[in-house]
Amino acid sequence: MSSCVAFTHPREAPVLLEREVPTCGPGEVLVRVEACGLGAADFGFFQLDGLPRAPMIPGLEAVGLVEATGGGVGVAVGTRVGLAPLAATCGGCGLCGRGLERWCSRVELHAWHRDGFLAQHVVTTGSALVPLTMEDEPTRFAPLFATGWTAFSAVRATGMGRGHRLGVIGVGGLGHLVVQVARAAGLEVRAHDVDPARLSLAGASATGPLEQDSVDAVVVCTPSTQAIQQAARAVRRGGTVVLAATSPSVRFDLSLFDTVMRGVTLAPAFLGTRSELGELINLVREGLITPHTHALALAEVPTKFWMLRDGGFTGRLVVSPTA
Ligand SMILES: [Zn+2]
Repeated sequence: MSSCVAFTHPREAPVLLEREVPTCGPGEVLVRVEACGLGAADFGFFQLDGLPRAPMIPGLEAVGLVEATGGGVGVAVGTRVGLAPLAATCGGCGLCGRGLERWCSRVELHAWHRDGFLAQHVVTTGSALVPLTMEDEPTRFAPLFATGWTAFSAVRATGMGRGHRLGVIGVGGLGHLVVQVARAAGLEVRAHDVDPARLSLAGASATGPLEQDSVDAVVVCTPSTQAIQQAARAVRRGGTVVLAATSPSVRFDLSLFDTVMRGVTLAPAFLGTRSELGELINLVREGLITPHTHALALAEVPTKFWMLRDGGFTGRLVVSPTA
């Protein structure tokens, strides 16, 4: 048998379930999960009026060991792999051709269209696999395959480089990685979070709310209307506001006149290109980026769910299903 954590009813905490070890078909692999990142996007399931399906296993990013393959994937049993949420895309549309397959209309995402990775065993496809080495420590690498990837592409999407000043609003699992990626790229960082404990993850550049016209670009790392409005005020003329956190329940309105006449670009960030993920992994191997993690056992997710949902931790939650 194999344990997993799943949402079974809307607006209720997830529960620990036992199920048969899943089997993999052609083009699929069975992975024994060693570490799974968990965060706001996963907790958001509980807010939905209806689950995409039930039971619904969350978990968008993980590291594990290949335990079996159905053939046609090109990865050997025993290999350590990273698991990203991109289970399948059409592969033939213009977006897929430009490396933007994450926005393909036929994308299939783990933790949405398919089960997520918050389980002892998961079945996935070659598309979601990123080969790692046995030196790549599971807890440190698990936050890279959705959160870290998004953080990296968000900094890229600002179009800013060395010497530019970047605002970061929200210093949680995503935001603290944006801060590190930005510093590694030579940007000056001004970070803001309503929670002083989280702000400490941003180091010396912690500030109060970003002042008007104070930064060249802003990455919004919390799904909040107020944060987006603060970002639009804080960015200078010709700058970019990158929306890196999302939620089905958040809306925002900005002044059309100010946005157009000040030349402000709004850009989305969700995962990134394959080459960006490779660059990020290299930065972590070189020690230039180190995710701050809060460890948790699989069985603790249901019992501590409400505390976790309310942000009772700093950095990225990483669950060890084997613990
Ligand atoms: Zn496509």
